[in-house]
Amino acid sequence: MKFIRGIAATTGVAAALALSACGSSVKTTDEQASGSAAGALVGVTMPTKSSERWIHDGDNVKSALEKLGYKVDLQYAENDIPTQVNQIENQITKGARLLVIAPIDGTALSTQLQEAGDKKIPVISYDRLLLNSPNVDYYATFDNFKVGVEQATSLLTGLGLKKADGSDGEAKGPFNIELFGGSPDDNNSSYFYNGAMSVLKPYLDKGTLVVKSGQTTFSVMAILRWDPATAQRRMEDLLTKTYTGGAKVQGVLSPYDGLSIGILSALKGNGYGTAGQPYPVVTGQDAEVASVKSIIAGEQYSTVFKDTRKLADVTVKMADTVLKGGKAQVNNTADYNNGKKVVPAQLLQPVVVTKDDYQRQLVDSGYYTADELK
Ligand code: BGC
Repeated sequence: MKFIRGIAATTGVAAALALSACGSSVKTTDEQASGSAAGALVGVTMPTKSSERWIHDGDNVKSALEKLGYKVDLQYAENDIPTQVNQIENQITKGARLLVIAPIDGTALSTQLQEAGDKKIPVISYDRLLLNSPNVDYYATFDNFKVGVEQATSLLTGLGLKKADGSDGEAKGPFNIELFGGSPDDNNSSYFYNGAMSVLKPYLDKGTLVVKSGQTTFSVMAILRWDPATAQRRMEDLLTKTYTGGAKVQGVLSPYDGLSIGILSALKGNGYGTAGQPYPVVTGQDAEVASVKSIIAGEQYSTVFKDTRKLADVTVKMADTVLKGGKAQVNNTADYNNGKKVVPAQLLQPVVVTKDDYQRQLVDSGYYTADELK
């Protein structure tokens, strides 16, 4: 097996030898290469079922692995870190030969990852990067910086500062905007933020865009565990404290559809969403059904579509290759340093969806049926 786990290699081999001497069923690297991967158990852990996208992810990964003959243990942790820790420990105990993990908190699983490393169980970080551990072999995700770029660009397009073809729009501003960030324990969040700020900064510097609350640093706008209710409360606070005396918010950068729903509720509760006072331009991510419906209804402006079928596909190909002793295909070996190593990654491309093209991107592509969006 060509698959060598850098820093953990020495300790891993020693542990495997010690265990096999005691009659354990742990396989050495060579045994894994020659031993058949057929029917092997793969442990898959997803953060929560409270967001639709992870349900699609889990289902897609499971069914594609099963089609290849693998057994799959798929678990959801409802955003509870100790639950996810237990699930991974159980999968290791049950003899999983590979782990696919979408972590809740990227830093919270180092002990379990060390255990996996010691037992020569390869780990694929799914969508979110596992941090501060050398025992992460591959990363399958979307270009997270680009997600932020796309969100911010669609905010500009919605405000009329840019046209769809990327050229300058007719609008001049200044526009009042507010910014929301993702969960601070999710490594993706800072990539979304940095991507978005790379687009917005020149407009903020010129005063074409104004964050009226003054809240522009990631830590103040971050929404723990991506919780929609927390986003709703923060938007309500911003509206009552900052938007007084007739001032209106015209754009909201939201990094996830669930947060956008909370933000739109707060806006509605404060008189937005009427003919005289339209909703601001609100962005999103994941193309979740409720938000696509909201886009069709003219409430949310845009979302970033990340085709979870493709992510599952890439991940399952990686898993299958690695389980058969091969080296998985990657297209990025520079950008995802997890604090201990640069994790080789396969990045997919995210795309913006608005009312103008949801039909082509989401329905014609077979991601949703037209009925699901009614
Ligand atoms: C994912 C996003 C998702 C968010 C909340 C992020 O890690 O990349 O697609 O919107 O988590 O679930």
